[in-house]
Parts: sequence; structure tokens; C-alpha cells
Amino acid sequence: MVFDPITELYDKSGELLGVQLSAEAWLKVRESVLAALGPRPEEERPEPLGDWELLKQYWDFPYPVDMDVACSECGAGTEDWSKDEPRKFRLTGASLGGLVAFRCQGCRSKVVKKHFKSHIKTEVTPFQDKVPAKEARYK
Ligand SMILES: [Zn+2]
Repeated sequence: MVFDPITELYDKSGELLGVQLSAEAWLKVRESVLAALGPRPEEERPEPLGDWELLKQYWDFPYPVDMDVACSECGAGTEDWSKDEPRKFRLTGASLGGLVAFRCQGCRSKVVKKHFKSHIKTEVTPFQDKVPAKEARYK
């Protein structure tokens, strides 16, 4: 018997529910399937606004709370990220130490603002799609 890399799944009434592919078959068609279906909705976690409020409450930097965010990757920018509707930058993290992270909604870059006593440092990391080969490798 030849192993069939494609298994069609039916329910009791004979309705097609979906298709199961072998790993080998999936790797062959993965790119074209993903391209044909378009981007998949990313699971969005709610913005950690509580953490942000906490940081603002305990703000002990010698300058006022800064609300501007800029992405050097795609050129997006805002004067006040919390007032944008829809968001240009989504808050993804805020720590009492002064680390505030955003996801640029335009190009999905990660924008991190590091607050120091004397200055604010912004770091932008371009979005990288997950590469399976990289994930399998040990650090
Ligand atoms: Zn961007």
C-alpha cells in the first residue's frame, strides 16, 4: 500500500471537514498555501494597560511621561500612541523599570523605549516571520 500524504476528513454525514497532510506534503505546499490564503489573523493579546498605568503612577524619571512613538522601519509615528484609534502602535509591555514595548501596526516591528534617568533610548527590531529551521536549533 502506498502511503497517501493527503487525508480528507469527513463527518458522519459525509460532509468534508478538512484535510490532513503529512509533514512532508505540508512542507512542499506550505508556502503556496499560505500565500493563497493570505495573512492569518494574529492572536492579539490585550494591551497591558494596567502595567502602563502602574509605570505612570510610579514615574520617577526627571522628565514628563512621554507618549510619542516612532518606527524607523516604516516611518510611522505618533505624538500620543494611546489616543490613536485604531492604534498605530500597540502596547505589548510596560515595566516599572521603564521598559515600554510596542508593536508597530504598519510593519509589525517591535519598538522598545528604554527610559533612563538622563535620556530615552528607542530600539526598533524589524518583524521576522518564524523560520522553522531556526526554531529547531539550540541556543
Ligand atoms: Zn513600522
